[in-house]
Amino acid sequence: MNINIMKPNINIIPINEQNNNILSFLKDSLRKKFLTQVKVLDKINIGNNFYNSSRNQYNANKILNFVISDLGLSDSRDIFLSVFNKDLYTSSLNFVFGLAGQYPRACIISVCRLNPEFYECKETKDDKNHLYFSRIKKEAIHEIGHTIGLEHCNNPNCVMYFSNTLEDTDNKEDKFCDNCKKFIG
Ligand SMILES: [Zn+2]
Ligand SMILES: [Zn+2]
Repeated sequence: MNINIMKPNINIIPINEQNNNILSFLKDSLRKKFLTQVKVLDKINIGNNFYNSSRNQYNANKILNFVISDLGLSDSRDIFLSVFNKDLYTSSLNFVFGLAGQYPRACIISVCRLNPEFYECKETKDDKNHLYFSRIKKEAIHEIGHTIGLEHCNNPNCVMYFSNTLEDTDNKEDKFCDNCKKFIG
């Protein structure tokens, strides 16, 4: 049985303005993690029709669908990770750190709540930065995990554990547990 298929590349898409340090950090860490080619694509500008003013949040499903149709991704087997710096929600949740689909392999993360400044915090500036970037990495790997077919894992240390709060994100590692690893081969 020949199951050796080419690895999909990962493409990072900044939505509106995005910090270059975050983009290059993600590019490096995802390349090391998934051992595949990672590119940062041109940014996509989105307007106010994705913004819900009564919630002061953006609709994650709508942005993801817009990116998929704008870039014509329906036939692509690459992975597309959108990175947004505003708060996201879905109709069933009051906020989400990210959202992902499998056909095509497109996902989005918001770095908004991952920033230690979003909630009150006691860390020093250096620690804050470290914490911020480690959260971004975990949430990006988590959403990419969904795009390649992984579901939520009940191991609280596994990167595929569902983060209901930032504490969950901080407690998990940026790694797939053995069970999840088996699934992705
Ligand atoms: Zn998830
Ligand atoms: Zn797992």
